Formats: sequence, C-alpha cells, structure tokens
Amino acid sequence: MSLLPVHEALTRILKSVAPVGTEFINIHDALGRVTSDDIRSNLTQPPFDASAMDGYAVRFSDIDNTLTVVGESQAGKSFEGKVTQNQAIRIFTGAPMAKGTDTVIMQENCTRKGDELIINEYKTLGDNIRHAGNDVKKGQTIIIKGTRLNSRHIALLAAANVAELSVYGKVKVALLSTGDELVDVGSAVGPDQIINSNIPLFEALIIEQGGIPVNLGTAKDNRQDLNAKISKIKNVDMVISIGGVSVGDYDIVQDVLVAARLKVDFWKVAMQPGKPLVYGDFNGIPFFGMPGNPASAYVCAVNFMVPALHIMQGRCDIGFKVNYATVGHDLSAGNSRINYMRAHFTENDKGEKIVTAMKSQGSSKLSTLANANCLLIRDINTPPSKAGESVRIVILNT
Ligand code: AMP
Ligand code: MG
Repeated sequence: MSLLPVHEALTRILKSVAPVGTEFINIHDALGRVTSDDIRSNLTQPPFDASAMDGYAVRFSDIDNTLTVVGESQAGKSFEGKVTQNQAIRIFTGAPMAKGTDTVIMQENCTRKGDELIINEYKTLGDNIRHAGNDVKKGQTIIIKGTRLNSRHIALLAAANVAELSVYGKVKVALLSTGDELVDVGSAVGPDQIINSNIPLFEALIIEQGGIPVNLGTAKDNRQDLNAKISKIKNVDMVISIGGVSVGDYDIVQDVLVAARLKVDFWKVAMQPGKPLVYGDFNGIPFFGMPGNPASAYVCAVNFMVPALHIMQGRCDIGFKVNYATVGHDLSAGNSRINYMRAHFTENDKGEKIVTAMKSQGSSKLSTLANANCLLIRDINTPPSKAGESVRIVILNT
C-alpha cells in the first residue's frame, strides 16, 4: 500500500468529523469552551458618560476663569444638580458626568483652595470622558461563533451582562493502549516492562485541547484482551488506540478492530515519525490507531487528532500554528516522507524565531519530546538547507 500524503490524510479526517452538539452553560464554567453562536451584549457599556480620571468636571468655556466647586460625583453616586457658569464638580474615575459639564481636568493640573479652583493646564474640549457605549453597545456582537473563550473574553461577557451562553459540547475521547510490556505510572516495573507514558500524554493533550479523555486501560497484545477493552467503548465521540498498528507479529490492533466493524479509511501516511497511523470510522465515530512510540503518537496527534478535536468543538481556528523560523544550523535534504523534527526555537532581540533541531530524533525519546517547543518541518525531497535559511515550524503549546 502506498503512503498517503499528509495533506490528503488531514483533508479526509477533517471532512469526516463535525461538532458534537451544543449546551447552555453559566459564565463561571465558560473558560476554554467554544461559542456556538455569535454573542451579543445585553447592555451598553459604559451605560452613561463617565469620568476617566480623578479630577474636576467643568464647562470648557469657563476653563480660564476661577471656578467654584459646588458638589461631587463619585462612582456609584452622581451629582444631582446642573452645573452653570464658572462652576465645577469634584469627580472621580468611573463617576457619571455632572449635567452641564463637558470636560474633565485631572486633579494634578488644578489648584484648589477651599471651594475655589484654578485650572493650570488643559488640552481640549471633551477630554477625559468615557462616553456611553464607547466600549460596547446593547445588541452588538461582542464574540463571534467558534471562539475558544479565554479569561479576557469572560471579562467582556461579564461586562456585557451575559450570564449564560451556548457553547459546543466537550468531545469525549476513549483512550486505549496496547502492549504486553506496559505498566501504569507508579507501579513496580518488572523485567522487560516499561511505563505507559502515552496514556498520561494523551490525557493531558486532550484536556489541554478542550476534550474529555476516557481511559479504557491497557490491553495485552492478544485478541481476547483487546476485544474486552473494545467492548468498553461507549458514549464517546472519538476513539484513540495507541500501539500495535505497525507490521510486527503482535501488531493486531487493526485486524481486531476491523472484526469489530472498523471501516479503515487509510493506513500509513508519508510522514516521519508516525507512518503507521490508521484512520477510520468505528461504528459512526472517528477512530485513530496511533503508533506506540511516544514521539510518533504525538506527531500524529498534533497533525491530525488536534485539528479533528477542534472541528468537533466547533472552533474557527483549527490546529496548532505554523510559522516561519530561521534555522540555526545546516540541515540535510528531506526524504520521501515529511519529517517533523523535534526542535526548539527562541526569539532574538529583533523578534525573529531561531530554531534548532534536537540532536537526537529517536521517536521513542521522551526527553527530546519534552524539551521541544516546536516541530521543524522538512518537506518531501526538500534540498539541504544552510544555517540562516527560513524553515517552517509547528509551534507546540507551551
Ligand atoms: P508499537 O507501536 O506497539 O509497535 O510500539 C512501538 C514502541 O512504542 C515500542 O517500543 C513500545 O514499547 C512503545 N510503546 C507502545 N505503547 C506505549 C505506551 N503507551 N507508552 C510508552 N511506550 C509505548
Ligand atoms: Mg506494541
């Protein structure tokens, strides 16, 4: 079977997935959720013309005269009367403008003796006023559909008095690892055994990307145990298996899943690491059969699982960001598969990204994976690159 190009694999995956439904939630639960509608403001903010400074509200036409301070407006309690010629109001930040005034002078630019006020410095009519609605207006769209909400969005929702909102559902992802050699973190490690690091890796990645991992545990490399784990796949939106999809005698995952009605869309992608990836439809939900080496599984997840998760959460920005960087050293030519090298970039004082590939690119190495903050992309058959040339990188969440 020939290897499927990465872009075609991604296109097929993204075509086959869709958002998983919507729900209504409280603003206090909204961090990291994705809006399923445009959100409109429930009020005008600020609701009234207010002072942007501590100082004095005056009539600009009186500004060169000696003024009399006739009252005070504080945040939450406005001055009731109307200001007339040569009068001023003591005012504080956020306080409603007093009727008749049109400018606020900062207190640092005034001299006050008793009720007498002299203005030493001013600029223009209307200074230091926050006009009603200069932030948002009632009914105005403040956040568009498909936005993953961060703390700043939540402040805006609160200011607009949006207490409840409609968001896309969280994607539940079943995780299943395979391998006779695997034991869970914290266990005693016997001879020939290694710790299962992929399950914690995928649990963390899925949570980071807004999903809910459902760990079904580790199956031994035999049909019976694998079938027992497969039978636990229920009420999830995506299935990820890890390990057992290559060509070894114990790589039985694809066979066993096909017998359990997996329809394979493709197997093997022209990428390195990650070649043995399987993708298909498992009883109506997307299935990824990831290779077992941690870097291979992670590179497949970054390229395919994360964008699919984003679409299933209704996000309008899909996948990790790809950017240009300057490579800090020579690179050899690309080969017949796209190579995603674990790499690290820093920014110099001009803001340019300078990227260095990790010395060791073994796909089993977690130390290089953990210290990488990007993947350096080497396209198929790309010529050798010299230090200083531009390359593309996938920026990993840090
Ligand atoms: P496989 O894809 O099953 O052939 O596994 C490839 C390599 O990845 C082997 O060295 C496995 O021991 C290792 N491996 C498989 N699954 C895991 C896992 N969940 N955590 C850590 N290493 C794994
Ligand atoms: Mg295995």
